[in-house]
Amino acid sequence: MFKVLEKDGNARYGILYTKSGYIETPAFLPVASFGTVKTMPPNSLKEIGIQGIITNVYHLHQRPGEKIIKKFGGIHKFMSFNGVIFTDSGGYQVYSLSNLKKINEDGVEFKSHIDGRKIFFTPEKVIEIQIDIGSDIFMTLDECPPYPVSYEYAKESLELTIKWAKRSKLFFDEIFKGKNERPLIFGIGQGSIYIDLREKGIEILKEYDFDGYGIGGLAVGEPEEDRKKIISEILSYYPEGKPRYLMGVGYPEDIFFAVKNGIDIFDCVLPTRNARTGLVFTSYGKLRIKNAIYAEDDLPLDPECDCYVCKNFTRGYIRHLFSSGEYLALYLSTYHSLYFYSKLMKNIREAIKEKRLLEFEKKFFEKYKIE
Ligand SMILES: [Zn+2]
Repeated sequence: MFKVLEKDGNARYGILYTKSGYIETPAFLPVASFGTVKTMPPNSLKEIGIQGIITNVYHLHQRPGEKIIKKFGGIHKFMSFNGVIFTDSGGYQVYSLSNLKKINEDGVEFKSHIDGRKIFFTPEKVIEIQIDIGSDIFMTLDECPPYPVSYEYAKESLELTIKWAKRSKLFFDEIFKGKNERPLIFGIGQGSIYIDLREKGIEILKEYDFDGYGIGGLAVGEPEEDRKKIISEILSYYPEGKPRYLMGVGYPEDIFFAVKNGIDIFDCVLPTRNARTGLVFTSYGKLRIKNAIYAEDDLPLDPECDCYVCKNFTRGYIRHLFSSGEYLALYLSTYHSLYFYSKLMKNIREAIKEKRLLEFEKKFFEKYKIE
């Protein structure tokens, strides 16, 4: 169940209830494709206010396999995280990581990028995998076209994605019919950069009454103006009372833009993947801690930040850890960058509640410099 509790323009503050508790929105989900947010134990995630994460069917099906996760009592117990867990259907990974995929009406066949074995995903199979994983929010199998793609291809691909979404929902409803406690299921809209396709897609998807709606296939290389145009034009077609999840986005500036247009949920590898290369997010913008100028710097990563890392460690020390190839460098930089995102989302929620989102955005970008 989802409740929109406050609005500031088109921005929404809401609560999404799941079988493992709730998340307040707008929310940012760190990516935990393999059942771990890289370098971060769950107690650290809790400490910095991470409410939910997103794992991945494509990866978990191949390793360790959903039956093993089920044996351990489901993904929450397996990875010892008691927050809200989303599972991405793996549609995007099938198209971006695997070789030799064959798509037909029924599903998609692909070769594992790990051991080369053939795997066949149907919409129903992907629901079954998510049931074994035991996540709180399921995503339907979709076809994620690359960018750029012709209008004709995007149209055909969208039609397939919608057929699969319908099959997923019917199968899901059949399994959970009459059950009090059930996971939630989100349908994913596609349509590349073609606004009429995106609109048509959501018009059909909403007939199936999903618990929420993902916007997929963006941030895959399309120009920023196209992405912004889609986000600002299609959201009025989405049902008001359901959460909207912009998948794979993004930088703080992208998040502000999308929140102002009515997006409720985000996920992205940016804060974690960048942190492991020594690029962290701070109140003043991105900071590359490996740079030589930080060797003797006794300031914290972000002087404005009150996280555990910034209270206890200097830039000079963290740079030294990176130079020495020490693993602690990865943890400290990830911890700080995720805290930065977590706090940003919290401040955004507070600002929406107090109807001062634009004011907060202005204040944020007075310091934060976009590169
Ligand atoms: Zn910090």
